[in-house]
Amino acid sequence: MNPRRSKGTPRVLICDDLAPEAVAVFREYGIEPEIRTGMDEETLVLAAADADALVVRSATKVTRRVIEAADELVVVGRAGVGVDNVDCAAATERGVVVMNTPTGNTTTTGELAISLMLSLARHIPRAVRDVRDGSWKKKTLSGSEITGKTLGVIGLGRIGRVVAERGLGLKMKVLAYDPYFANAERAPVAGVELAGLDELLAASDFVTLHVPLMDATRNLISAERIALMKPGSRLINAARGGLVDEAAVVAALDAGKLAGAAFDVLADEPPGPEHPLVGRDDVIVTPHIGASSSEASLRVATDVAHQIARFLLEGRADNAVNAPRVAPDDLAELAPYMQLADRIGGFLARRAPAPLRKLEVTFEGHLAERDTRPLSLALLAGVLSVGRDHPVNFVNAPLVAAERDLRLLEGKEPDAGAFSSLIKVRASCAGGEPSFLVSGTVFGDRPRFVRIDDLHVDLAPEGTILITSHKDVPGVVGKLGQTLGAAGVNIRRVELGKPARSSKDPDAPAAGFLMIDREPRPELLAELEALDPILSVCCLTL
Ligand code: NAD
Repeated sequence: MNPRRSKGTPRVLICDDLAPEAVAVFREYGIEPEIRTGMDEETLVLAAADADALVVRSATKVTRRVIEAADELVVVGRAGVGVDNVDCAAATERGVVVMNTPTGNTTTTGELAISLMLSLARHIPRAVRDVRDGSWKKKTLSGSEITGKTLGVIGLGRIGRVVAERGLGLKMKVLAYDPYFANAERAPVAGVELAGLDELLAASDFVTLHVPLMDATRNLISAERIALMKPGSRLINAARGGLVDEAAVVAALDAGKLAGAAFDVLADEPPGPEHPLVGRDDVIVTPHIGASSSEASLRVATDVAHQIARFLLEGRADNAVNAPRVAPDDLAELAPYMQLADRIGGFLARRAPAPLRKLEVTFEGHLAERDTRPLSLALLAGVLSVGRDHPVNFVNAPLVAAERDLRLLEGKEPDAGAFSSLIKVRASCAGGEPSFLVSGTVFGDRPRFVRIDDLHVDLAPEGTILITSHKDVPGVVGKLGQTLGAAGVNIRRVELGKPARSSKDPDAPAAGFLMIDREPRPELLAELEALDPILSVCCLTL
């Protein structure tokens, strides 16, 4: 599936400062990106008009206006994690994939959390400032060791695990809370003990946050939760502003309940000089530098360049934030089946006499064990792209399906008969029209249709297919071949026969599927339809 709307070499616009190595990655794929940083919305609207891809960090705002003005746009890539600067809702409506690079910053951010913990324990920022101010007093700078202390990690995802591993390496006892592992017997990091949130808060000398900001995690560290914390403990937030009730932390520091706190992120950034956490001796505030290292910048820049190039050239969307996340290995294996699902959808929508209202899809065999969401989306996109100006893809397919009143029912079946995997789709229109069925599989990495309605076939679903309904008498192929040949149309493959369910009825019509090398003109179709054994013909191009 080619996601692009235009032909020719893709046009990629790099809108923010990005490590120069990203340009070299694009060139490996034969893409010459254009670098235009520092654009305001007006300039970006004009510059993005014929871009296939935009690459941003956090400075450029990709607004609805920009997205709606960019007719060719298919992907926005964010070098980094947060996509708050991209209007994801507008992108989804237009079928524009928004992708980030979630893993490039992991180590760097984890190391910052550890640095903040050590800085808090030994008052390093204050000591440095004192010396710079001409003071050499040790008395007020007595810190605490971390060896043997308990580190409580809230959120045991990518960064949380880096922090937990480093904590163990520093000879700390590490507790972790993450609802994802609520029923797990063991933590994903050996040596880390899973705990409930309250238990973790009560037992930890240092509590560090590594969770996303969502409704459920806003003010996760509230006044009530701080009350549960160990007296004299310290809090570190290098995840997202808004996870901590900042006023409650100030109160707890004033009351001596907490010995210190470190924030790389705040609810409002940048904070004004009056912010109650800024300027306190027992608080460290860094200006959101969690991801700021030369290694992370290089990694996110080259990651985003690889991802965008692969999407533009192969349709493979790694780390799309507005589409279901699928493991990269699964995605690679599913790619030819996504193409198959798209072709089945296109075939059914073109063949149906009226708009389709219901699709019943069954994933059979090995596919049944896979994450099949991308396949269902590819099927929907295949159906909904027929006769529509704006492309439909796996990003906007569910929205467009809801608009068109198209329902999708999914099933899985471990047994695919003679095949290792099969996608079977039954499609029906509104108002009691007959339903159509297509089954397909992948041979090598090529999609094949193996059944159409009741007929077993072996067809590569690409190019033009002539479909006949005809009397089951000898000489049909000859007559069709003669008429097509006289018009200069070549037949590449023929599949015909009688549906199994009517094989015993001599008067039941047979069906034919002929792969031909070009679309016949309407007069030729009329000529074919007038042939004696032919009852009806139709033609479609995939
Ligand atoms: P991740 O998705 O790999 O992990 C997040 C983990 O949090 C998941 O395991 C999830 O199950 C868990 N979680 C969700 N709700 C929870 C809850 N209520 N309590 C406890 N755990 C919960 O994410 P990540 O890559 O590890 O990033 C973690 C955070 O760090 C994110 O908020 C990210 O935005 C932030 N981050 C900050 C910087 C920075 O510059 N300071 C840089 C990168 C990432």
